[in-house]
Amino acid sequence: MASIEFLNVTQSFGGNVIIKDLNLKIEDGKFTVLVGPSGCGKTTLLRMIAGLDPQVSGSVLIDGTDVTRIAPGQRGVAMVFQNYAIYPTMSVRENIEFGLKNNKVAKEERTRLVESISSTVGLYEYLDRKPSTLSGGQRQRVALARAMVKKPSVFLMDEPLSNLDAKLRVQMRIELIEMHKKLGSTFVYVTHDQVEAMSMADTIVLMNRGSIQQEAPPEIIYRQPNNLFAAQFIGVPPMNVGELGADGAKFGFRPESAVLTTEPGDKHFSDKGTIITREMLGSETIYQVRSENHSYMIKCTEDLFSVDQQVYVGVDADKLYFFGADENRIAV
Ligand code: ATP
Repeated sequence: MASIEFLNVTQSFGGNVIIKDLNLKIEDGKFTVLVGPSGCGKTTLLRMIAGLDPQVSGSVLIDGTDVTRIAPGQRGVAMVFQNYAIYPTMSVRENIEFGLKNNKVAKEERTRLVESISSTVGLYEYLDRKPSTLSGGQRQRVALARAMVKKPSVFLMDEPLSNLDAKLRVQMRIELIEMHKKLGSTFVYVTHDQVEAMSMADTIVLMNRGSIQQEAPPEIIYRQPNNLFAAQFIGVPPMNVGELGADGAKFGFRPESAVLTTEPGDKHFSDKGTIITREMLGSETIYQVRSENHSYMIKCTEDLFSVDQQVYVGVDADKLYFFGADENRIAV
């Protein structure tokens, strides 16, 4: 196991500064998810940990040791990419065994390790199959097993599930959480999908334009976002946000925090509007409500309203968020 630290790290490509003076500590043995919009620098951080693109300045520490001058293969780090690289002509067993053979691990130990890891990822029965006879999810598991078998203390994953269909992604998310529990190693996982981040992370590192917006467990980011960006990036549908007068301050509330009524209620916040769209999702319904100045997405557990109906949007005082002109949340 190993912690990872970035100390005043700057990275640039062709004169473009991508990351500037970044400081971050990724805890030992935790499942940390780097999340943020495309191009915010997530992969850049991962590649610096792996040693694939050394930083321009600052230090990267693994387990307290500055690894700047340590070659990628010597860092105790394994990386799995979106386009999992497995050899099509080799069996599952040969694919998983490949790195061990290269490291001159003895045959008996290789067999033991391959069988143990293939059980962990649910591939034991498939060891003699060729990748072409496996499903996308099983192939991704081969790539994971190949990385795991070398017992890395740090496991880096860059959008490893993005080529899988929606159902398989959900299943693999659960499997990755279980693998993390079994292995106990430090997982650093990159995604732009906030649902993946929320469902798997012990800690979310939320990034935007090369800087860290917030670093916290999922429920803290959700309930106490540092700023408007965090409030709107985490949560589906995103937080409703509206203007508060001319001074640039804003208010916000989560879609599930409002109640809809046909008569004005006694809530701290109330706005009259019309239902524009209704999306029935089974256990909940999402209504879009347009008032004179705002448009809201409201999530209800009951499906009581129809399009064109006039409603009141009511929110309790303790469910409201406020943001200053600098977009930081104002604690109330
Ligand atoms: P995505 O979710 O789209 O993969 P990301 O957050 O992982 O995005 P990075 O791949 O880290 O983003 O890229 C951050 C920025 O750095 C982008 O603007 C990208 O164009 C730039 N960049 C990354 N690698 C290089 C490189 N080798 N040469 C030039 N620019 C690069």
